[in-house]
Amino acid sequence: MLPYYLPVKSYFGSGIVTQMKTQIAQYGTKALLVTGKHSALASGAQVDVLAALEAMGVEAVVFNQIEENPSVETVKAAASFGLAEGADFVIGIGGGSPLDASKAIAMVMRQPELLKSNLFGLKPMKALPVIAIPTTSGTGSEVTPYAILTDHVDQTKKNLGQSIYPKMALLDPAYTYSLSDEVTLHTAIDAFTHLAEGFLNTNATRFSDAFAKEGLRAFAKQLPKLQAKTYDGEFRREMMEISMLAGMVIAQTGTSLPHGMGYALTYHHGVPHGLANGLLMSAYLESFKSMDRVNDLLVTMGFQSLSDLTAVLRQLCKIKIQYEKEQLAHYAREMSQNQGKLKNHPEAVGEEELFNLYLKSL
Ligand code: NAP
Ligand code: ZN
Repeated sequence: MLPYYLPVKSYFGSGIVTQMKTQIAQYGTKALLVTGKHSALASGAQVDVLAALEAMGVEAVVFNQIEENPSVETVKAAASFGLAEGADFVIGIGGGSPLDASKAIAMVMRQPELLKSNLFGLKPMKALPVIAIPTTSGTGSEVTPYAILTDHVDQTKKNLGQSIYPKMALLDPAYTYSLSDEVTLHTAIDAFTHLAEGFLNTNATRFSDAFAKEGLRAFAKQLPKLQAKTYDGEFRREMMEISMLAGMVIAQTGTSLPHGMGYALTYHHGVPHGLANGLLMSAYLESFKSMDRVNDLLVTMGFQSLSDLTAVLRQLCKIKIQYEKEQLAHYAREMSQNQGKLKNHPEAVGEEELFNLYLKSL
């Protein structure tokens, strides 16, 4: 396995979209902007991107109907729109939902015959160039090859199973100033879970660990501000870098149990992605039979004990979910067959342990 691969040109800073307009224009002659309903405008990113494209004489059209946890149907609708408009590259603007969707849309636009087929389980596919501009600090999707889509046929969220890295990521912390307190918290927790699951992962290497440890240290420093909701400029800048570091980790390692288990909580109970992972994180950390790596994580973050960390996590990640035990048993059964996620977890876990993890977390 490659020890490290991350082919995304990533640029960071205030006003970066405007500064990079020449580079943006190199990717095509007509851009399809892929956004959610409000965030691209609320963040100011869409205005900057359209101005940059106009200055360079590059045409643009906007598809602004990407929902949270984007569905296969929406991806196909956006791709049809982009094809009809003759767009030749894709710019995703938003949280993980529009960014992930933009990767899948770029794949379908490159192979329009996919409009008529199942998008999962395909051989490796090509995609039009994608530029990713995050407006949340959470998923790190701007530097990962993953696209997580909602599959209403199987009633769950699934990784597209392709490796579609954006060609370029443009990160401007100012685009996250318009985030609500709630989304700020949930997405920050998502970034933390990427760092933790990437660090406590079968695929971890010294290269991914270097990024993970730096991200964990930086996240621990921002925890007091996260708890106090002091979302100032320094916090926004730090969280965007932490989110990118965490993306660089999972691009190498993948995620593991909390992410695999969290999809059911999002699909069936509407729990936001980051919060779902955060809810499961404490019981997951407590479930390790060998605590060596968990202790390394705690030392890196400056915690004296696991209970100190889980007390903070349990205080931050709160939601009341209505559920029947049979539902949890069903989710645990599904997860026990998710070989992709299970192989990333260094210890063997069975259906009963997964059920208990759900029960303890909820
Ligand atoms: P999101 O679903 O993209 O957005 C959540 C909410 O925040 C939406 O209502 C969105 O509005 C709003 N929002 C986003 N940016 C905003 C801003 N700057 N100002 C105001 N509102 C803003 O949330 P996310 O947590 O970033 O992404 C979650 C998705 O990413 C999930 O589908 C998850 O599975 C996926 N994910 C992908 C990876 C990966 O590596 N590819 C990793 C982790 C998670 P709009 O609806 O208007 O956009
Ligand atoms: Zn995540």
